[in-house]
Amino acid sequence: MLLMKPNCECCNRDLPPSSHAAMICSFECTFCSTCVETRVHGRCPNCGGELVRRPVRPVEALRRYPATGERTFKPQGCA
Ligand SMILES: [Zn+2]
Ligand SMILES: [Zn+2]
Repeated sequence: MLLMKPNCECCNRDLPPSSHAAMICSFECTFCSTCVETRVHGRCPNCGGELVRRPVRPVEALRRYPATGERTFKPQGCA
């Protein structure tokens, strides 16, 4: 199950489970679509993997399977 991390690792922008701007790699490193386009250019700076749009989790599902509240912020990898 996806953790649905709450923010972008590069710019710390909030990415709620309903956001269509969240992008993830296979390890679920999480970025906003702006940083994916302008800063890391489609590749995860941590693992080199592909970044794809994270699916939205419906509100009903979130009640049973809440998103993680743990923020990851590593701007040094996003030059
Ligand atoms: Zn960002
Ligand atoms: Zn990664």
